[in-house]
Amino acid sequence: MPVPFLDLKAQYRSIKHEIDPAMQDVIDSCAFALGPAVERFEKAFAEYCGSKHCIAVGNGTSAIELILMAHGIGQGDEVITVANSFFASAEAISLVGATPVLVDCSEDDALIDTTKIEAAITQKTKAILPVHLYGQCADMDVITILAKKHKLLVIEDACQAHGSGYKGKRAGNIGDAAAFSFYPGKNLGAYGEGGGITTNDDAITKKIRMLRDHGMAEKYKHAVVGRNERLDGIQGAVLDVKLKHLEAWNTARRTHAALYQALLKNNPNVTLFQTHPDRIHNYHLFVVRVKNRDAVQTKLKDKGIQTGIHYPIPIHLQEAYAGIWNTGDFPVAEKLAPELLSLPMFAELTEEQVREVCENLKHLS
Ligand SMILES: *Cc1c(COP(=O)(O)O)cnc(C)c1O
Repeated sequence: MPVPFLDLKAQYRSIKHEIDPAMQDVIDSCAFALGPAVERFEKAFAEYCGSKHCIAVGNGTSAIELILMAHGIGQGDEVITVANSFFASAEAISLVGATPVLVDCSEDDALIDTTKIEAAITQKTKAILPVHLYGQCADMDVITILAKKHKLLVIEDACQAHGSGYKGKRAGNIGDAAAFSFYPGKNLGAYGEGGGITTNDDAITKKIRMLRDHGMAEKYKHAVVGRNERLDGIQGAVLDVKLKHLEAWNTARRTHAALYQALLKNNPNVTLFQTHPDRIHNYHLFVVRVKNRDAVQTKLKDKGIQTGIHYPIPIHLQEAYAGIWNTGDFPVAEKLAPELLSLPMFAELTEEQVREVCENLKHLS
């Protein structure tokens, strides 16, 4: 039985009757950049996250950059993030001229190791950027206490955490501001590029609204040098339709994850990551550890089962950052990288498909 890693076509088929007219409305109105559909989505997404504001932007990386810019973080400043994330978590820090300072992850949950954050704080540190990796929130209580003690901002990289929760709060409403990505493969994905920022801060919201539109407060009056990070009207319409389904899709993902966990927990070939009972995981990715990962991935591929690797090379060992860090600097991230395997995960996955994947992980040699 073939099992795709992700099936965007299945999702589109299920909502085509809502998506097509919503996109056509934008085309009929010709409100192609920002506009009413984007404003509608911003309101709905802010409400969903429990945040006062949402500012829709071009993509998740720019969302992080705009948050940093709006807080005046740049040259000479340091921002702490984690070694085992998608490259963009650190890249966004570099792109505003600041210095990413990496911290290792914990072996049991792959999230930032909060016991190692304080040692990374210097006089130059301005913010902590925890990543809710794979869709599980980082330990935000510990991070918030550290941030208060050292007067630092907390910026959530919630690019994988649409609808995730932490102790009764939604991701996006835990730190000072949060960045979301609406890249097509995310739990809430546009039909192209998209991103969003949530915050409860009125002044920062005003700044980001200016920054995303060439620093304009009024038409052709540029108060600051900004960027062009406007979300497309069509993407606003798509996201507004899809947001209404997000809870149901996340619930389906959690059902699949529970079955994976039940079927894999006694499999000696597979190590599961810990999921914390005080958090709501959205299972953006279902990642396990296996020895001989590349051989296992090939074996599954030969059976028609597609998998992914998130991520094969930790940030500190990327060529783009050559000369800054060394092998051995973040031993847990380095230990995990060659063992990580992301199993098929999307709402429309069937129970039979989950069983098929687990069956094929039984006899590895
Ligand atoms: C997807 C992602 C980003 C970047 O989002 P884009 O929309 O691709 O720019 C940043 N951080 C994490 C953790 C991500 O998964």
